Amino acid sequence: MTKKQRALAAVETLKARYPDAICSLQYERPYELLISTRLSAQCTDARVNIVTKDLFAKYRSLEDFANAELAEVEEIVRPCGFYKVKSKDIIDMCRMLLDVYGGVLPDTVEELTRLPGIGRKTANLIVGDIYGKPAVVTDTHCIRICGRIGLTEGKDPKKVEMQLWEILPPEESSDFCHRLVLFGRDVCKARSPECEACPMQVCKKVGVPVKKK
Ligand code: SF4
Repeated sequence: MTKKQRALAAVETLKARYPDAICSLQYERPYELLISTRLSAQCTDARVNIVTKDLFAKYRSLEDFANAELAEVEEIVRPCGFYKVKSKDIIDMCRMLLDVYGGVLPDTVEELTRLPGIGRKTANLIVGDIYGKPAVVTDTHCIRICGRIGLTEGKDPKKVEMQLWEILPPEESSDFCHRLVLFGRDVCKARSPECEACPMQVCKKVGVPVKKK
């Protein structure tokens, strides 16, 4: 089986298990997804969703964020951790979106990664979820699972992303990454993956009894 064939098999397995591949971050406006994703670094999506409920209620436009008092944003986003740098990035990125991009989120990874605090992972998420274009979001679940099932090698996010671009059908790439997150949370967990009952037939570990904790 080639890597492309393995990738396709993994795509189909996850599609069957998770027909609805949606991002777990809640947002209404495109730039809100950008902000939520910035907040999600080292924080759970569930916590981010709690915080952004208040944040997006208080600041209702890019202009609101661009003119926000740093200390007030910090106070709201504090539960997400690294709140000082995240708050500054949020205000700076909204200013740049207004000043450089006319208030419209760019649709390329190259442009998005020029925004403060935005790396390839977030940029790909925006390209895939907001613009419906091919996107490979190499978060921790993606890197771990793709390594375990033999699609990729190493843990460097950019290198893993580039390897996946070579073997994933472009039109499936974005949904596949969302499904990997769900699969990583409930089956192929970082610790104690549930290999015994795992549906991922391309993985050599399928059927291995679950280790008792
Ligand atoms: S068999 Fe185990 S390691 Fe392989 S994908 Fe399934 S849960 Fe992950």
